[in-house]
Amino acid sequence: MEHDNIYLTNLRDEKQNMWTGLANYFRKRSMWMLYYCTGCGAIELPPTMTSRYDMERLGMGPMATPRQADLLLITGYLSVKTLKRVIWSYEQMQEPKYVVGFGSCPINGGIYWDAYPVINHLEAFMPVDMSIAGCMPRPQAIIDAFEKLMDEIQQGKAVGYKRYRKHYDWYKRNQDLVLNRQSAVLTPYVDPFASMPTAAELMAQESEDSHV
Ligand code: SF4
Repeated sequence: MEHDNIYLTNLRDEKQNMWTGLANYFRKRSMWMLYYCTGCGAIELPPTMTSRYDMERLGMGPMATPRQADLLLITGYLSVKTLKRVIWSYEQMQEPKYVVGFGSCPINGGIYWDAYPVINHLEAFMPVDMSIAGCMPRPQAIIDAFEKLMDEIQQGKAVGYKRYRKHYDWYKRNQDLVLNRQSAVLTPYVDPFASMPTAAELMAQESEDSHV
């Protein structure tokens, strides 16, 4: 009896893995992008999209509205004013959704690290699934990052949108701090992610929930 139960559980896991794997394959090969050309990194998008690097061969294309987009590109520094619009757009996107930050500015503020109108840690305001280092990143680096993001989607590791849902209050508190001008930037930077689950922990949790 016990063996039967183990066999049935394994069978169910295999089927689930097969369908999840298939869904992830289609997700990674049909990413529609919404891009906020907020900084200098935007200038690298046209060569990445056009014939030389041709990102369409990866199944990626531009999308005009957030409600039909899967991928939000933040292409450089982000002013506080723009952050508000970016959050509105992100929250309108359907799940699963992914965020890619271009260049140093979304990672740590870059050359604007202490500028009052510019945020210095995008990850403190919305979950970032992939960051591309550089000032500014070249098309090769952008294509490389998209391919890595696709791998993470296939493996079910790109779960920033779940982190956003789970820690909504934490993100909202950070957003309110700068949008209501209580703080220009979130400094000094205390590691706010210490209490957050990693992608692996979220995946393990999800698999436990699906067995309940
Ligand atoms: S990382 Fe460099 S290239 Fe990108 S937005 Fe910042 S200053 Fe501009």
